[in-house]
Amino acid sequence: RLSERNTVIDRLKRAVRNGEIEPHYQSQHVLSDGRLTGFEALARWDDEVLGAVRPDVFISIAEQTGLIVELGEHLLRRACEDATQWAELMPKAPPVVSVNISPVQFARTDVTGLVSRVLHETGLPPELLEVEVTEGVLIASREKIAATLQELSELGVSIALDDFGTGYSSLSYLKDLPLNRLKIDQSFVKDLSRTASNPIVSTIVQLGHNLGLNVIAEGVEDQTDVDLLAALECDDGQGYLYSRAMTKEATSRYITEIALQASQQ
Ligand code: C2E
Ligand code: MG
Ligand code: MG
Repeated sequence: RLSERNTVIDRLKRAVRNGEIEPHYQSQHVLSDGRLTGFEALARWDDEVLGAVRPDVFISIAEQTGLIVELGEHLLRRACEDATQWAELMPKAPPVVSVNISPVQFARTDVTGLVSRVLHETGLPPELLEVEVTEGVLIASREKIAATLQELSELGVSIALDDFGTGYSSLSYLKDLPLNRLKIDQSFVKDLSRTASNPIVSTIVQLGHNLGLNVIAEGVEDQTDVDLLAALECDDGQGYLYSRAMTKEATSRYITEIALQASQQ
């Protein structure tokens, strides 16, 4: 297993160096009317030798080896470049791009400096970028993270708390951090159709709304999920019902199609 892991590390180094890991994009929508609001950038790696490697596998290796710093910067830059083009395709309602930033990047690098540099280089307006952080980010150095998130927020970038409800949970940070959105983890959405009442989902939605936050559900797979979530007043959704993660080219086609439909109405 050790030699297998070493092979993956070698291939990963190579892939990062050659820029072979690229973001694909999964759309996000308003649950009540299906309107497109943005896309989450999800890293995809299809290696010549290893084949397609799952992101939870290679992101965790990239974090352990420090490769996440270079990889994270590449993915952020690509996502911002791509989002700049989408804004031209859909100028009236430009989609926001959400980028996952690893706790390791927050701990080891100047995330604010990186984000402001990339926004400047790509010309993407800050309000079209959202940063996704997990609760795990708060374990390390709570004050440093809070300060960085505050700086990002002052730049005009929005902040989403990913996989909400699954991690290290202390509700006290919710009121101290400059959050804009809660992402309900897909494990809670999976339970929706199996149970008549949904105390956890409805409580997360109310909690988010009481704090003035937008709430988005992950893992929306069918219309029943949409109906149940909308009945619980959840705002937005993301999942296979709307789209899988698409290549940059497929995403541009998807946006062009939506812009065309809007212009015909
Ligand atoms: P995440 O940020 O919570 O991303 C959502 C995951 O749910 C994605 O898995 C997505 O493909 C999957 N998903 C979306 N819709 C559905 C659905 O309807 N049903 C089901 N069953 N799954 C759905 P993916 O792409 O495998 O990514 C896994 C995790 O890897 C991500 O979780 C994120 O934590 C991490 N990751 C992915 N890309 C990046 C990246 O660029 N940077 C960092 N730091 N982490 C990343
Ligand atoms: Mg995410
Ligand atoms: Mg998530």
